[in-house]
Amino acid sequence: MFNSNHFIDVILPIPLEKQFTYAITQAEAGFLKKGMRVAVPFGKRKIYTALVLDIHQKVPEAYEAKEIHQILDEQPIVNEFQMKLWQWMSSYYMCTLGDILRAALPSAFLLESETNIVLNKNEKINDLELKDDEFLVYEALQHQSSLKVRDINNILDKKNGLPIIKRLITKNVITVEEELYEKYKPKLVRYVKLNVVYSSEDKLQELFETLTRAPKQRQIILSFFTLNSTTKKPIKVSDLIKKSEASSAQIKALVNKNILEEYYLQTDRVSFENEIISDTKNLNSEQTITLNNLIKSFKSQNVALLHGVTSSGKTEVYVKLIETILKQGKQVLYLVPEIALTSQLVSRLNAYFGNQIAVYHSRYSLNERVEVWNHVLNNSDKAKVVLGARSSVFLPFSNLGLIIVDEEHEQSYKQFDPAPRYHARDTAIVLANLFKAKTLLGSATPSVESFFNAVKEKKYGLAELNTRYNNVLMPEIELVDIKDKQKRKRMRGHFSDRLIEEMTEALDNDYQIILFQNRRGFSPIIECHTCGHSPQCSNCDVSLTYHQYKNQLRCHYCGYAIAMPNNCTACGSSELDNKGFGTEQIEEEVKVLFPKVKVARMDLDTTRGKYSYERIITSFEQHEVDILVGTQMVTKGLDFRNVKLVGIMNADSLLNFPDFRAHERSFQLMQQVAGRAGRTDVRGKVLIQTYNPYHKILQQVSTNDYLSMFYEQLDERYNYKYPPIYRLIKITLRHRDYNKVNDGAEWMAKSLGQVFKQYVLGPEFPPISRIRNQYHKNILIKIPQNQSLLKTKEAILKIKNSFLSIKDFRPIKVILNVDNY
Ligand code: ADP
Ligand code: ZN
Ligand code: ZN
Repeated sequence: MFNSNHFIDVILPIPLEKQFTYAITQAEAGFLKKGMRVAVPFGKRKIYTALVLDIHQKVPEAYEAKEIHQILDEQPIVNEFQMKLWQWMSSYYMCTLGDILRAALPSAFLLESETNIVLNKNEKINDLELKDDEFLVYEALQHQSSLKVRDINNILDKKNGLPIIKRLITKNVITVEEELYEKYKPKLVRYVKLNVVYSSEDKLQELFETLTRAPKQRQIILSFFTLNSTTKKPIKVSDLIKKSEASSAQIKALVNKNILEEYYLQTDRVSFENEIISDTKNLNSEQTITLNNLIKSFKSQNVALLHGVTSSGKTEVYVKLIETILKQGKQVLYLVPEIALTSQLVSRLNAYFGNQIAVYHSRYSLNERVEVWNHVLNNSDKAKVVLGARSSVFLPFSNLGLIIVDEEHEQSYKQFDPAPRYHARDTAIVLANLFKAKTLLGSATPSVESFFNAVKEKKYGLAELNTRYNNVLMPEIELVDIKDKQKRKRMRGHFSDRLIEEMTEALDNDYQIILFQNRRGFSPIIECHTCGHSPQCSNCDVSLTYHQYKNQLRCHYCGYAIAMPNNCTACGSSELDNKGFGTEQIEEEVKVLFPKVKVARMDLDTTRGKYSYERIITSFEQHEVDILVGTQMVTKGLDFRNVKLVGIMNADSLLNFPDFRAHERSFQLMQQVAGRAGRTDVRGKVLIQTYNPYHKILQQVSTNDYLSMFYEQLDERYNYKYPPIYRLIKITLRHRDYNKVNDGAEWMAKSLGQVFKQYVLGPEFPPISRIRNQYHKNILIKIPQNQSLLKTKEAILKIKNSFLSIKDFRPIKVILNVDNY
């Protein structure tokens, strides 16, 4: 042990409540800076990568500081802005800095002794360029598919091989094994060529003769030749359709006859070498006014909300703002919900901003993520605009000018598991404030809390776009009463006669259709099969959930319970049902109703495969599919040109969801799905099938009445004490042993009750109380506006600590979720 009075505090990528202190030499103290990584020993034999948070000379009191193994960086990879943000996140979301470190850094930055190292198969390696020690590792990996860091230490006969591993990663020789690993998906485009048989004149002549009785097909072949003579390039199916004015099915017929052959080519949508290929669009007068309003609002306020109907051109307005920020030499963060990160948006922005745009996303490979991280860290021109999902709030910005949060109402901005359970929109606002930068929230259906912050609290500015671009009309929305249709025997399966009529008409005119059904399988809600009613909790304004083992209906917030009734409390019918129906069933029924039509389904089950999501979207875009059946995946920001009709199969299953936001979410979802219809010149049509056509939310959806929805929801939130009026913190206890969870939860709720009185709800089992062999039990704390958030959290932490000091309860996992909505 050397004798030094220099120390560092580090964050380890594990959930420790406190920072850990290590000893360093004087020389190291002179070299180290905050934000560099060091390799440190922890526990018996483990080595971790840790991040330097502070450098000081205070001797730790509780333990003797160990020495570090090694310094891993020459420059900090994390800057002071990030450290400030992370401290805020840790205290606001009640998690450790270690949780945050793990979520924030690409895993290649966090090597530890258990990390698996593999060869980078994409690189050609010249082993002569490797140093001796590097070659040893390289050679070992020729014989073994993967090695742990500790194995590599043994091979190198070194206590710590991390610096060598780091060098090899930089040289692209090796990489870290990851499960969540998927490269950006290439877009597959369908092409056709003429079967080689017809390259001779005779055969071609023959072909035209056989096609005399199929004039349309003949027309297609002629168009094919026209295209072929004007361009020497492969011929896209979509171009051929346009040229010959044929349908996709007619081309398919020629393919089936082996006259045309189809094949796919990849077109790269994200080519970062791209030069700027188009100027940004000129805004129309309404968009211009909105842009000016936003700029004006930013003079006095840091956050603005853009409430613009679907297809009003919000993206074009964002683009103009981005241009002004880029002119100031600043960075822009453009956040989108996980699922909306489509190639459509990427190629649009790529065309405007060329290689200044970088994409950051968990689906990207590790090396790509490291690359973007470094570009942002160096404030490089290659990442002036970062387009990313929620984890991009962790990037090392140093000169941020603007954050855009598109579709700000989206639930996927909130991380539920594991910690940090942060909300990317709210974190973005804090991040922007660190830079005195502006935040723009955009949505066609703003969340109640953001609209509240704008119009009631006046914390945010507000700008609106009320018409669609080019004055395309908002779709016409028709409510179909399926209770009545059932009575009059006008249903075929789950399809009303109205829906079938509209579908037939759309298909006859070669338009496409989207059918929306939110459900995939089991539902914990009881619904009357006759009237669609679903029993509600009288305290909480949410649907009760069915608990099989006691044959009860329970509120999963407050524990209110009734015995499972035999008859519907609204209409008396005895057909109470918790099965519901899903996308798969709808797809099957469509195939029976319209046997000649091509149907595709998009839900979690059909998009698991590597390129499946992209493939479904592409084939729908190219009109190879006529009807797309899907869950809420089909609602997200997609811009399909040819969709005329949207059918919502059953609105009630949305409205009855057991959540205080069910009505708000239903409104948002239905408006978003409706927004997919008629985005070009023809007016779209939306049919909503429901048992309760007089439901307030459905009336508001059908009249596009966001304001009524907002004020009514706000009233309910006052009455039932929910956000944005009250804040929520959810505490979940988790353990294998049912009794332990039960006893622990009782104890915890009682202690919390002594402090927070009637604002403690539960403990209550959620509808699905056992997940992966672990029982869950929840306690909900409501926090009134005038109650100090800081003191509340202190009190909760204190109770949590006394809880965990009880021997019996120590093995129980306690999960805190702040702003659980
Ligand atoms: P939103 O983001 O509000 O849903 P988009 O920005 O996607 O709307 O615009 C809808 C469509 O209208 C897009 O195809 C877009 O290119 C087009 N568009 C919007 N504004 C303009 C404009 N000023 N000039 C030309 N096209 C526009
Ligand atoms: Zn009923
Ligand atoms: Zn309740």
